[in-house]
Amino acid sequence: MFDLVIRNAWLHDGSGAPAQRGALAVSGGRIAAIGADLGPGRREIDAQGLALMPGIIDGHTHYDAQLTWDPFADPSPPLGVTTAVIGNCGFTIAPCRPADRDLTMRNLTQVEGMSLDALRAGIRWDFESIPQYMDMLQASRPGVNVAAFAGHSAIRTYVMGEGAHQRVATDAEIARMADLVREAMAHGAVGFASSTNEPHNGWNGIPMPSRLADAREMLALTRAMGESGRGLFMLTKGNVTPMAQLEEIAEQSGRPVLIAAMFHNNTDPSRVFDELALMQAARERGHALIPQVSACPLTMDFTLHSAYLFESIPAWKTAISLEGEPLRALYASPDFRAAVKADLERQQGRGLFNGEWHLMQVAQAARPDNIGLEGRTVLELATAQGCHPLDWLLDFALSENLDTYFTAQLRNTDVQAVGQLVADPATHVSLSDAGAHLTFLCDAGFGLHLLGHWARDQQALSLAQAVHKLTGHPARLFGIADRGLLREGLAADLLLFDPATVGRGRNERRFDLPAGASRLRAQGIGVHGVWVNGEQVVDANGLLPDAPRAGSLLREFQA
Ligand SMILES: [Zn+2]
Repeated sequence: MFDLVIRNAWLHDGSGAPAQRGALAVSGGRIAAIGADLGPGRREIDAQGLALMPGIIDGHTHYDAQLTWDPFADPSPPLGVTTAVIGNCGFTIAPCRPADRDLTMRNLTQVEGMSLDALRAGIRWDFESIPQYMDMLQASRPGVNVAAFAGHSAIRTYVMGEGAHQRVATDAEIARMADLVREAMAHGAVGFASSTNEPHNGWNGIPMPSRLADAREMLALTRAMGESGRGLFMLTKGNVTPMAQLEEIAEQSGRPVLIAAMFHNNTDPSRVFDELALMQAARERGHALIPQVSACPLTMDFTLHSAYLFESIPAWKTAISLEGEPLRALYASPDFRAAVKADLERQQGRGLFNGEWHLMQVAQAARPDNIGLEGRTVLELATAQGCHPLDWLLDFALSENLDTYFTAQLRNTDVQAVGQLVADPATHVSLSDAGAHLTFLCDAGFGLHLLGHWARDQQALSLAQAVHKLTGHPARLFGIADRGLLREGLAADLLLFDPATVGRGRNERRFDLPAGASRLRAQGIGVHGVWVNGEQVVDANGLLPDAPRAGSLLREFQA
């Protein structure tokens, strides 16, 4: 007798092969049998022709902090995710000395859009080292499977203190950092993650520590990772990092380099394809440079209290550390506005926001008499008043005490181009950034969006290929040998869904973080069940109220 049998399903096995109609049985948390006619189960489900696939592996999340207060990594499981990779971009919370906790939280607040109150109230600091953090995650039993990167910025702060934000490292400091990378790999880290990305600033707009690393530090730390004979180097790449440097890292470390964030940018439309071509050429020379792309438009909701999307504009730096009256006075100042406009002209497609005012809208007005403006673009509203869009934006926000919510589409809005990126067999589709930018966006439902929007609606790739991109492909990439496919003996991480309706629903704003802080939260559509290691955690109504903590910290990876 099996624990569970799901019958009459279209089985998408994660390999990219066409679906087969059949049944799947689970026993002891593993897939026990797959076939046309299986014996009885203690629990039987008639799927009535729904699709069954391996659970989604989300390769780019930032649940490092959230997992210490929310073991389920909400909202990922109801969106089909059964494995989350944390520590991306190198923004981990371990290692961290007690004295550095507040600085670490302030940096996360800025760089990942989490409220400082939420972090202070939420994080359980029962660890100092990376092994201690990993042991704590395992002991508290996560609700999803978790794989953790060792994080460059945390390691740098641990070794260099305040200097981590200010200067290049000495040989002795690099040697100590390399030892911490070795220690993390020995305790089951999935790899080493870093960022050289310009919008990645910490408290008061100071660059995150990894942005201060020189080429010799990057090479030493990735080689330390490579000594383990496994692992990936994950990098969110800024404009300053040449592809040749990354190819050298792949060569010297002997390990793949996973390169984020490969978005399509309307104001520099060939750039992403040029970079993909460089990576392809490197792969042909035997050096695994792998582009990480997103299935979602990069959309940010923001108020002018804290407008992350403008923070890579040099003239905006003065605004980052201000609030209240001084911030309002700055926004009103003609000099500030002139400087921002000049920078926007100069940066020519290199910023996070590049002057696409026609893709910025009023999302939620603060004053009832302005509700009629919701959904209208900043460009059309400014044109109607005969002023520059920046002036309109700042004047309007000031008239609403900066409480207006705006929404801006910053990347990945070109259907043709993005369809090409997600369908390319070489790309790793992820970049949900789940657990981060919580007040600005929620792309945790990226997998459902790939299945519904890109496979079913746009037909950019087949459903079987889309399933592969979310399961078998990332499992192989991260060396997760016992997941990502429907095969006898593998872990029973499963997603039961309706291909006719699957997708991601609207985001809603909730105030359910620690200290009552707000976040955007996506709803799934067409999800009928999610199982983690054979235990059901989600049904058609979402996360089960008594969902078991069935996940595990993954520590063994194939080379
Ligand atoms: Zn990230």
